[in-house]
Amino acid sequence: VFQCPVCMHVLNNPLVLSCGHRFCNSCVSAAAYFGQHSCPVCRKECVLNDDNIKIETLLGRFLQNHF
Ligand SMILES: [Zn+2]
Ligand SMILES: [Zn+2]
Repeated sequence: VFQCPVCMHVLNNPLVLSCGHRFCNSCVSAAAYFGQHSCPVCRKECVLNDDNIKIETLLGRFLQNHF
């Protein structure tokens, strides 16, 4: 089970940043709203866009189909 390093809960609508770290969709959105565009874990600058969300959605569907 993946844990969100921001809210310390189980990932809710997990979102993968370009650095590879995972956070809740809501946690990343909240950070982006406050103008933070770096990963809370590794401080790497991360791009948050619709493509990331789409990729994660496709990945989730892939996992559901194969496990
Ligand atoms: Zn979270
Ligand atoms: Zn990171």
